[in-house]
Amino acid sequence: MNSVLQSVSKIQIDRLFVHPEALDTVICQRVAAALPDLPIEMAEQTPLGPERDRLSADEYVRSKRSLWLTPFRGTFFKRCPGATQKKVLNCCNYHVLNLGSQCNFDCSYCYLQSYLQHKTLKIYTNVDSALAELREMAQEHGHLPFRVGTGEIMDSLSLDPLTLVSRDLIAFFANYPKWTLEFKTKSDFVDQFLDAPHAGNVVVSWSVNPAEIVNREEHGTARLAERLAAARRCRNRGFQIAFHLDPMIYFPDWQLHYAELVDQITSQFSPDDVNVISMGALRFQPEQRFLMKERFGLKSLVTSAEMWPSEGGKLRYDFQIRNQMFDFVIQRFRGHNSRWRIFLCMETPETWIQSLQQTPMQVEGLRDLFRPLPKLALETEVATQVTNGVQS
Ligand code: SF4
Repeated sequence: MNSVLQSVSKIQIDRLFVHPEALDTVICQRVAAALPDLPIEMAEQTPLGPERDRLSADEYVRSKRSLWLTPFRGTFFKRCPGATQKKVLNCCNYHVLNLGSQCNFDCSYCYLQSYLQHKTLKIYTNVDSALAELREMAQEHGHLPFRVGTGEIMDSLSLDPLTLVSRDLIAFFANYPKWTLEFKTKSDFVDQFLDAPHAGNVVVSWSVNPAEIVNREEHGTARLAERLAAARRCRNRGFQIAFHLDPMIYFPDWQLHYAELVDQITSQFSPDDVNVISMGALRFQPEQRFLMKERFGLKSLVTSAEMWPSEGGKLRYDFQIRNQMFDFVIQRFRGHNSRWRIFLCMETPETWIQSLQQTPMQVEGLRDLFRPLPKLALETEVATQVTNGVQS
């Protein structure tokens, strides 16, 4: 079995719904070809019943196994939620391109639990419209260092062996070398695009945690060793790579486990291989606690954590704990090599100063990431998604 087919075989979809307008699209044809044994069920409206304020635990779990291919009527391109909270967070000028919603993985802390109302995974089939939006933006801002990610309300690559959208995006971004495309994933699904010609402006990034946390909290995802192996394959093909130690989780012997994680990264990659290392501590909306407890019980390190309300309305660890964890990891990386570029994601200026003794604009190599860019004509700010930041 070739490696892409192997990836497809790891994706569990029980039901495939298709909007009538999506039936003849390339995306639908690719998905249907990848899942030949799954009958197509036509669905003009949201399948499996109307959207609800809050899904039950069962509905939420089932939503990860049912896929609806449908056109999207709104704006695809948005500024990262962190940018809308600039008064309380330092933001890295990230933009998001939402090509679907919900995720087939099942992390206990996932912020999608706080607001998703539909009962399926959604993949948007009018990728042409998304690219047309980007093209319009590029006419005015093609010279600016935009960073565009696709992993806000879905994992960038967890369904990509079915849709192959990564290849379309990589080809598009080859025309705009000043822009950077970022895939963010907890999968090891990279083989479907490894041979795609690119302009060196594609970052494939992984959210990583110690193996203990991956095994206990990040259900259905690629194991840590599999993610690192996928990152090596990308590096060897000239893709930039990045790691997000996010969300860091406080648990007994956390120092031992995070030290091991840092050592695994530094033994397999050099600072020159890795675009950036970002860190963030566990955070979530208070309203998702109930669903998390129902689904994962108190055995989860996340549901049993002691958390405090913070500036943006989210629950976070105490400031001292966050600093202690960030400081520990920063020192561990620096102990290996002072050239690792590290930044804090969705954190307050106070935490930056405490942990890195600098603001982002004072850190060589990060200045360009955080330099304010002009507000865009097409850009919308997603009030309902402001709360938690880029996912996956
Ligand atoms: S945290 Fe990311 S990978 Fe995990 S379930 Fe949510 S979207 Fe998927």
